[in-house]
Amino acid sequence: MYQRVLQTIQLQGRAVDVLRLDSCTPGGMGNKYFKMKYNIDEAIKQNHNTLLSFGGAFSNHIQALALIGSQLNLQTIGVIRGEDDPDNPTLRFAREHGMRLHFVSREAYRGKQTPNFVATLSQLFGRFYLIPEGGSNALAVRGCMEIMHGMESEYNHVLVACGTGATLAGIAATPGLIAKVTGISVLKGEDQLTQTVTDLIPHNIVPAPWSILFDCHLGGYAKNSPELVACRNMLENVQDLPTDPVYTAKVFCAAAKLIAIGQIQADEKILIVHTGGLQGLEGWNYRFPNK
Ligand SMILES: *Cc1c(COP(=O)(O)O)cnc(C)c1O
Repeated sequence: MYQRVLQTIQLQGRAVDVLRLDSCTPGGMGNKYFKMKYNIDEAIKQNHNTLLSFGGAFSNHIQALALIGSQLNLQTIGVIRGEDDPDNPTLRFAREHGMRLHFVSREAYRGKQTPNFVATLSQLFGRFYLIPEGGSNALAVRGCMEIMHGMESEYNHVLVACGTGATLAGIAATPGLIAKVTGISVLKGEDQLTQTVTDLIPHNIVPAPWSILFDCHLGGYAKNSPELVACRNMLENVQDLPTDPVYTAKVFCAAAKLIAIGQIQADEKILIVHTGGLQGLEGWNYRFPNK
């Protein structure tokens, strides 16, 4: 079991516990640590010395992969959507930690999982262990099933940010979890997320009741808004809680709203999972100076 860090904050006059994965995972990797751990074990078991994955230029996953690779002496390759920018803090970090970066057009990136594209990567880079975008696969879900270890019966309601949905799937699949689990989608549009999470939950497991809120993305993925700024400032200044604008801040904002409109009941004991992502702050300030 990992050494967990909990913080209690006040939201709309309610005491809410926060599971600070940002401060109890190596390098602040947050949920990416849990998503990566069994993938790394598997790569080592298969005698790989190179890990390859995909991401945007500000990706928390790419940052975490570069960090883990440098710590374990494994080669890492990041296939990055779009063009190189040597001043981008995430890319700079990745390079400094030995990651090889390979930039592809947005169009090529969309076809990144096709056999043809992967074959091209093999020609370029030789043998590698492939980790999908965001690190989301069955082994990632298995890692995320450990996030709630030791807290299975402490809470009635767990809220967590949802991108690909692997973290939500893992939490919902925690054996013995009595809480209901709400995922806050940070992307605009419903697409396939509910189906994706359903498919990611191991088929031999009956999950805790879970659902996804699709209307709390505050403008869409990695978009800025005055509401987001206000929410982050309140958390930082009043509650002493740093959040990232792409994922975690949206969960706190959503939780505050659910409490205010009575959708979270007075007798519910709430846990918000802080999934990390603070590395992205430097990139955010780079993208949105003076905000
Ligand atoms: C990647 C990430 C998520 C999303 O996790 P999924 O498993 O893709 O749903 C949430 N929060 C933070 C901080 C992240 O970096």
